[in-house]
Amino acid sequence: MRGGGAPVPYSRVGPAPGIFRNGEVVSMKPGKKVVVIGSGVGGAGIAALLQSRGHEVTLLEKNGYHGGKCSSFVKDGYVVDSGVHMYSMGPSGPLGMLNRRVGGDLEWCVANPMSDIISSGRVHMLAYQNQFDPRGLLENLKAVALDKRITKEGMHDASKRMRLLEKETYRAAKRMRPREVLDAAARIARRDEALLSELDGITLQEFAHQVTDDFGLLGTLATLCMVLLVVPYTLASAGEFLWCYASIYRNRSLGVPRGSAREVPGSYLRAFLRAGGEFRLGCKVKGIRVENGRVLGVESAEGEFFPADVVVSNAGIKRTLELAGEDNFPPEYVAYVRGLRYSYSFITVKYGLARRVVDVGAPSFFNKPHVHPDHMFDYIDEGGVPEDPLLFVPMPSEWDPFVAPVGKQLLIMGVPGPSEVTPEKVEQCERILDRAEDKLYELFPAVRDNAEWKMRTHISHTAAITGKPTGECIGLAQCVGQTGLAKPSCRTPVEGLWLVGTDAGARGVGTEQAAASALYLAGLLDA
Ligand SMILES: Cc1cc2nc3c(=O)[nH]c(=O)nc-3n(C[C@H](O)[C@H](O)[C@H](O)COP(=O)(O)OP(=O)(O)OC[C@H]3O[C@@H](n4cnc5c(N)ncnc54)[C@H](O)[C@@H]3O)c2cc1C
Repeated sequence: MRGGGAPVPYSRVGPAPGIFRNGEVVSMKPGKKVVVIGSGVGGAGIAALLQSRGHEVTLLEKNGYHGGKCSSFVKDGYVVDSGVHMYSMGPSGPLGMLNRRVGGDLEWCVANPMSDIISSGRVHMLAYQNQFDPRGLLENLKAVALDKRITKEGMHDASKRMRLLEKETYRAAKRMRPREVLDAAARIARRDEALLSELDGITLQEFAHQVTDDFGLLGTLATLCMVLLVVPYTLASAGEFLWCYASIYRNRSLGVPRGSAREVPGSYLRAFLRAGGEFRLGCKVKGIRVENGRVLGVESAEGEFFPADVVVSNAGIKRTLELAGEDNFPPEYVAYVRGLRYSYSFITVKYGLARRVVDVGAPSFFNKPHVHPDHMFDYIDEGGVPEDPLLFVPMPSEWDPFVAPVGKQLLIMGVPGPSEVTPEKVEQCERILDRAEDKLYELFPAVRDNAEWKMRTHISHTAAITGKPTGECIGLAQCVGQTGLAKPSCRTPVEGLWLVGTDAGARGVGTEQAAASALYLAGLLDA
């Protein structure tokens, strides 16, 4: 296995939520004036944590609603996630941990089986939280047998061609010996940080090719990687992916919050307000005031000045530099931040269904593409549409019946797309969603006939939520060079200015990374 990439300046990592390195802690006496910019999971989380420890926190949010990308809206009696979310560790991960620390009221819906996996358009397999659940093992055997039968029926000429290509592709691949594989698997399951740091230096594709040439397994990894990190496995950091994957199976509590996505930051905000924090909605920060390398406070678009000892920004690392003025940072830090890249997007169609149309035995389903794993997501950068789209389809009303009117069903379909918002990419998103809808109707024709309403949300909607020129799903891409030791630190070169959210300080899947970043930063500021 190859060694990890060289750590970049200004980066520090929180290997697990709340754990930090010696020497980094800035013990802050209670009573400091803190301004937090943005009420995403990270911003709401750090505001609640610092207020609960006796600081005087003001939280400013530019939108008229809370939660950033993790928000929801109400339509015709349905409570609809503005994105498309499932939470890989539910109550057992950093989201639950933060909620407990601040005395929040968040409740979770956890299901087993958690998902139905549709592969080759016909084979259904139920996925269980425990990989060794005997029901899951039986499902696996059933799926393999069915897959074989379909192949025998000659359904997959394309599959034969792909296997030839596969042989070519993997001919030169280096292999590990079985004992090495077992040893590495055990260390990954334990989330051994030394091994994962090493694996941060190679892509998941490189790692996978060293272990297997099985087309099905590689396809599963490529699919899962896009769902968890929203980066193709050809770019994603192997260490980051394996940390996230191992965490799901260690915790076995993948789920969704009761009441939809907005309840995650909502619970933190209620705790924040109970502890006496001040929260202003519709208050856009126009600039962060810095003098002699130290933060002084923030200025709103209406011209109000909020003085502060500490400013924590949840607006993203690139936007934070713009707000504070690039001249206030060392040139090499500015160059470093400019070079960071964002994740890809998930774009969605939401359906309010007049009756319970989809009944697959689990509250979500996936369509696993039958496409060569190394090229599964090439269509995104090529400006095209997927041949066989990856569909990520949670059915929120199957997890939590109260998010839809009685007897009706809410279904949200997500499909990977580009992140930069340009007229061409927006038009590409529409084409990708046309293709994804065709696939969904092929699988479940009754969805088309029973839709009371449907709605598309894609990159321009996400960009409008965050105020960025991009509509990426996660935040910074968890690709090689941007994870583990190479993840940007919560600390910035400006004294008193800190970052929180998916752009700094932690590992994990989207919202969980944002909560872990808040826990990590709270540890740094207030050990
Ligand atoms: C379609 C989609 C699907 C997703 N699926 C999943 C999933 O299944 N599981 C998962 O865990 N994650 C998922 N995510 C990712 C997850 O939602 C995000 O990674 C996470 O919510 C980001 O949180 P954050 O704290 O970093 O900040 P953000 O959500 O980006 O919030 C930043 C906040 O700062 C505010 N702000 C910005 N600038 C200013 C300013 N100048 N003044 C005041 N306020 C400002 C914004 O309005 C916003 O409220 C998904 C995201 C999308 C879009």
